[in-house]
Amino acid sequence: MSDCLFCRIRDGQVPAKSVHRDEVCIAIEDINPQAPTHLLVIPLQHIPTLNDLTVEDRETVGHLATVAAKLAKERGHSESGYRLVMNCNRDAGQTVFHLHLHLLGGRPFGWPPG
Ligand code: AMP
Ligand code: ZN
Repeated sequence: MSDCLFCRIRDGQVPAKSVHRDEVCIAIEDINPQAPTHLLVIPLQHIPTLNDLTVEDRETVGHLATVAAKLAKERGHSESGYRLVMNCNRDAGQTVFHLHLHLLGGRPFGWPPG
């Protein structure tokens, strides 16, 4: 059994509130939401961090952004705005080492981020 949390969620071994699934990725509700909308768009493929991306992953990463934009639209955030975030390693606060895109929406966000 994988010891990666998001692989286990992908495989149905850990419960999660799924909002999307296709042949490339899943999207789930974040367990500790930081905004009214806080979804995680997660590739099915186990890629630990942004540093591990190869040219073969370009379509996958583009797909994650496209799915996130679609989910943001469904939740009414397209015009007001939303934020997509990928944290990489310690300084960015990455805690789950399986690539994922945060979709945050439903409130204003400060810049620069904390
Ligand atoms: P990051 O800090 O960028 O690695 O983001 C990991 C995210 O996963 C955090 O926002 C956590 O709240 C979220 N998270 C951790 N465990 C779970 C879980 N079991 N289900 C859904 N989200 C989770
Ligand atoms: Zn994984």
